[in-house]
Amino acid sequence: RLEIRNLRRRFGDRDVVDDVSLTIMPGHVTCLLGPSGCGKSTTLRMIAGVEMQDSGEIYVDGDLVCDTVFRIPPERRHIGLMFQDFALFPHMSVADNVAFGLKGSKDEKRTRVEELLRKVGLYRAIDEFPHVLSGGEQQRIALVRALAPRPRIMLMDEPFSGLDNRLRDDIRDETLSVLKEEDTAVLLVTHEPEEAMRMADEIALMRDGRIVQQGAPYNIYNAPLDKAAVSFFSDIN
Ligand code: ATP
Ligand code: MG
Repeated sequence: RLEIRNLRRRFGDRDVVDDVSLTIMPGHVTCLLGPSGCGKSTTLRMIAGVEMQDSGEIYVDGDLVCDTVFRIPPERRHIGLMFQDFALFPHMSVADNVAFGLKGSKDEKRTRVEELLRKVGLYRAIDEFPHVLSGGEQQRIALVRALAPRPRIMLMDEPFSGLDNRLRDDIRDETLSVLKEEDTAVLLVTHEPEEAMRMADEIALMRDGRIVQQGAPYNIYNAPLDKAAVSFFSDIN
């Protein structure tokens, strides 16, 4: 479970993230949806621990991970990351890529790697190197690499934007089913309403650093609270 409370970050004289609070339960996907520059990635970076907040607290499964004085380093937060340009290691096989963040015996690691590759239908690629795989296949490998250490939270920043349209829907669906099976709490950042409608259990609409509306996708779609939300959803039907 991820909880963020009253998170703020100021750059210059601008509150880029302005009092953002969210709770995400295991097995749930929350989409942070908003226009370019509204503060989505900054929010994610603070949760990941690579950017410091000015105020506010972050909790993972009830444990304080970070406030303004206390700070657990990124690698000990049990958080998985997946970004658009999060490339695989080119000099390592698929198996080694997926096993990279894993602890335990060789056999334990191998078992986990095989289990995950089967889930995304890429067991046959276990000994290949990344460059022989298609973009979609590499994306699936990046997903299972992030999930391999069983992170409690998965942060995804526009992870599908590098894929062509034909592939994107399939990969979205498949990613969603793997995330659900692994029972991870997911915060997915996107500026595409379509993607949020397809993947989210809950949508948090963000604008100018603030969450302006939050709820189940169809509630937001059917009853947008303000003009910004209306215009955001007017493109899809
Ligand atoms: P996009 O959809 O384009 O990725 P975003 O919602 O992810 O946008 P952020 O990357 O969070 O937006 O940036 C929000 C604002 O904060 C932008 O105006 C950006 O220029 C500014 N910003 C982000 N990081 C810094 C920084 N380190 N120093 C100064 N300004 C920053
Ligand atoms: Mg961004």
